[in-house]
Amino acid sequence: MTQGFDTLAIHAGTAPDTATGARQVPIYQTTAYVFRDSDHAAKLFNLQEVGYIYSRLTNPTVMALANRVAALEGGAGAVACSSGHAAQLMALFPLMQPGCNVVASTRLYGGTVQQFTNTIRKFGWSAKLVDFDDPKAIAAAIDDNTRALFCETICNPGGAISDLDAIARIADHAGLPLIVDNTTATPWLCRPIEHGATIVVHSATKYLTGNGTVTGGVVVDSGKFDWSASGKFPSLSEPEPAYHGLQFHAALGAMAFTFHSIAVGLRDLGMTMNPQGAHYTLMGIETLSLRMQRHVENAQIVAEWLEQDPRVEYVSYPGLKSSPYHHLAKMIVPKGAGALFTFAMKGGYEACVKFVDNLKLFSHVANLGDTRSLVIHSASTTHRQLSDEQRAAAGALPNVVRLSIGIEDVKDLIEDLNQAMTVATA
Ligand SMILES: *Cc1c(COP(=O)(O)O)cnc(C)c1O
Repeated sequence: MTQGFDTLAIHAGTAPDTATGARQVPIYQTTAYVFRDSDHAAKLFNLQEVGYIYSRLTNPTVMALANRVAALEGGAGAVACSSGHAAQLMALFPLMQPGCNVVASTRLYGGTVQQFTNTIRKFGWSAKLVDFDDPKAIAAAIDDNTRALFCETICNPGGAISDLDAIARIADHAGLPLIVDNTTATPWLCRPIEHGATIVVHSATKYLTGNGTVTGGVVVDSGKFDWSASGKFPSLSEPEPAYHGLQFHAALGAMAFTFHSIAVGLRDLGMTMNPQGAHYTLMGIETLSLRMQRHVENAQIVAEWLEQDPRVEYVSYPGLKSSPYHHLAKMIVPKGAGALFTFAMKGGYEACVKFVDNLKLFSHVANLGDTRSLVIHSASTTHRQLSDEQRAAAGALPNVVRLSIGIEDVKDLIEDLNQAMTVATA
């Protein structure tokens, strides 16, 4: 990285608009782009010249966002898409064939567990969910049909931190890419590629946009993986029938994954981000550093306050010394352990529901990473459709409440938590 993170957050991926001089990134609300002539059109379709054809594939506002996130993550290229879940499918798409599997952590966002255990089976893919704290379990789950490892930096919602360096070594040893969902950490807290990740995925819905206005996702490729070495990734290393026999890795090198994601992934799956959404996310990213700094500062104070309160059973926040992940937090997210965590209240399910219903400043929503503080009872909402076992693995037990700490005055947050807990435990 030549420029600093904060400079990149504001400038990367954009320059003043050449047509108008507009300083902010214009919202290119257009479906198509006029070809100079037929020869120009042919070159664009052959990927011999980079340019715009149709907004399902590329759009200048959306590309600005993709390139900015690539710069912040230290990747070679990126593709923005319609949601975090779309990003996950887009990340797997160039790697998988029917019969292939991904070895993934049991401690994933509930929606991802759902997507991986049931929905991807319709493509003939599958996921093996194992305990990513246990390197032996990961290695044992890898078989000849495994095409990737998948985990989250800071696991949603259980407050576990993935030992990315150790997991990347296992992936490396097996000749497989490691995909890391960096949604809850953001590149300000952790840059997984520096810890050995191959691909980083984001739900831009969360901290990147930062104010609960957008549904979006991003896939960043490090550009460092050798797609041709093992013969396991024919979409990238062999002539791709879906793109008139182009050999993406041979032709495009470090940009093979990104170009495949655009030229085949977005073209055929169509999980495209819209320019208006990309614009909001670009604006959000401009203040990512400032927000994350306040998010983690507030989260640490709230977690410490909760931990000393007798009405609280325990707090699962890796920023606390009591967390079994405290030492990993110092290595993986040294600037702060994120702003999403869970705590268990005395009084069980009943008290939790009462607590959530009596909060005034915290909003009861199924979201995280907003400037506003948010609360949810995972067991009865986001993790409702999972089995008891899956809920336990994800840290979403019946007496557990998840908080997403915002950037308000922290004394007001504590006051609100305190009054609701008083009602709930009366
Ligand atoms: C929200 C979330 C997702 C899914 O993102 P959407 O934008 O809602 O599709 C994936 N991973 C994590 C960690 C999330 O928090």
